[in-house]
Amino acid sequence: MNDQTPITTGCSDTPVLKQRGQREVFCGLTGIIWLHRKMQDAFFLVVGSRTCAHLLQSAAGVMIFAEPRFGTAILEEKDLAGLVDANQELDREVSRLLARRPDIKQLFLVGSCPSEVIKLDLARAAERLTEIYNPNVRVINFSGSGIETTFTQGEDACLAAMVPMLPNTNERELLLVGALPDVVEDQALQLLSDMGISKIRVLPAHRVDAQTALGPNTVFALTQPFLGDTHAELIRRGARHIAAPFPFGEEGTTAWLRAIADEFGVDQDMFDRVTQAPRARARKAIQAQAKILNGKSIFFFPDSQLEIPLARFLTRECGMKAIEVGAPYIHGDLIGPDLELLPKGPVISEGQDVDLQLDRCRAARPDLTVCGLGLANPLEGEGLSTKWAIELVFTPVHFYEQAGDLAGLFARPLRRKSLLTGFHPNMQAAE
Ligand code: SF4
Repeated sequence: MNDQTPITTGCSDTPVLKQRGQREVFCGLTGIIWLHRKMQDAFFLVVGSRTCAHLLQSAAGVMIFAEPRFGTAILEEKDLAGLVDANQELDREVSRLLARRPDIKQLFLVGSCPSEVIKLDLARAAERLTEIYNPNVRVINFSGSGIETTFTQGEDACLAAMVPMLPNTNERELLLVGALPDVVEDQALQLLSDMGISKIRVLPAHRVDAQTALGPNTVFALTQPFLGDTHAELIRRGARHIAAPFPFGEEGTTAWLRAIADEFGVDQDMFDRVTQAPRARARKAIQAQAKILNGKSIFFFPDSQLEIPLARFLTRECGMKAIEVGAPYIHGDLIGPDLELLPKGPVISEGQDVDLQLDRCRAARPDLTVCGLGLANPLEGEGLSTKWAIELVFTPVHFYEQAGDLAGLFARPLRRKSLLTGFHPNMQAAE
């Protein structure tokens, strides 16, 4: 953040343009791709079609050296037509899998569009299988279906399904919620422990036995803005949310850490001592990329649910101008602090009517459009530069050390375009 940035109420009172129409988004199965790396004793069994299997396989790639931690129990036509008992087939699949893989301690049955269409009751299946395999394996279900969901909701549904299973505690503990790459999670834990905050747990944990307990003295901080259902489940269990801007960029990271530090009574001197050096590094790294981004306009289609915090980062720290910030859902308890910081000006839209939104985008001709893969190619064909929203979830972008990379993700398409179309003075300055 620029210390001179004026404090405003930002976009918190901007009327929201609500859109309900055709949508262009990935489904929640996508979350398995990063969740299976994080939870090392878990297995994600998608109960779905060959399409679901193809999506997972092509998005996650083939794991050559490791036993994969995800798979698909394929619903054949006879299952879909109700000619066989899909539950019996599922039980058989699970029994085969668990006999072969004693390392599995948490088995997630993941619903899909086909399993929802044939109304396969995976909650009952999870209960039935938990009774059979308890205490060695915990079986949990959640839905990754693409019907009425966006791709980051898969992680939310998964974590929300885990919360009721967590044991009780009265300990005063901090819970960090959201699946981050290990190196990024370690940075956050290090910063917090350097401030003297030591009783910290994470959700999801690497292994079920390291998993956190939960209770009325638990306070939690979200690391991802798409965890609305998980937030609701944690509140239901009596935990308290530490609301803060999300830790993207130098400003967001500092505000997020400051909110936690305030909760644990960390004084300003200690806070400054711990954050000063990484803040300076983050500012420098952002500045290098901001030379390209400064003054450029950006348009967000709703996709990852990261849109509002990212628009806050790009406008306040990189000098971009937001034209429209579309989000699939606007959950005030979660992204309220980011909305407050987002400078007034852009249209804030919730939901999608893709044709109308494309019309607005074409009329505005932004320098950069953030959207899903399905929209990116046609827009590129019309001469607009795009950034795939999904990349923002697959790339480490949180906290100070990644702040420059985060800005770089947005600078890259602009730099590429300038190379294709000719020399631009800003581009050379930032190389
Ligand atoms: S869950 Fe639905 S949207 Fe996702 S791959 Fe399967 S069929 Fe397609």
